[in-house]
Amino acid sequence: MPFPIKTCVVCGEEFELRPGKPGFANRCPRCSEPEETDSDTEQHKDEIERRSESEMNAERRRTIRDMLYRKDS
Ligand SMILES: [Zn+2]
Repeated sequence: MPFPIKTCVVCGEEFELRPGKPGFANRCPRCSEPEETDSDTEQHKDEIERRSESEMNAERRRTIRDMLYRKDS
């Protein structure tokens, strides 16, 4: 039997209201997480990870370019 679909009052996302779901019945599981700072930390971490990843890519590109230049000369 399908679970009833509810709309989260916080983010507006639809979610399945499963029996035993923690938190409020009118909030999706993500928005029911006990600490709101939790998602903030996650977002922040994501941002840092993304930034370091692009830095890594830039570094790699630079290294490859250096190698190519060295090969040319
Ligand atoms: Zn939500």
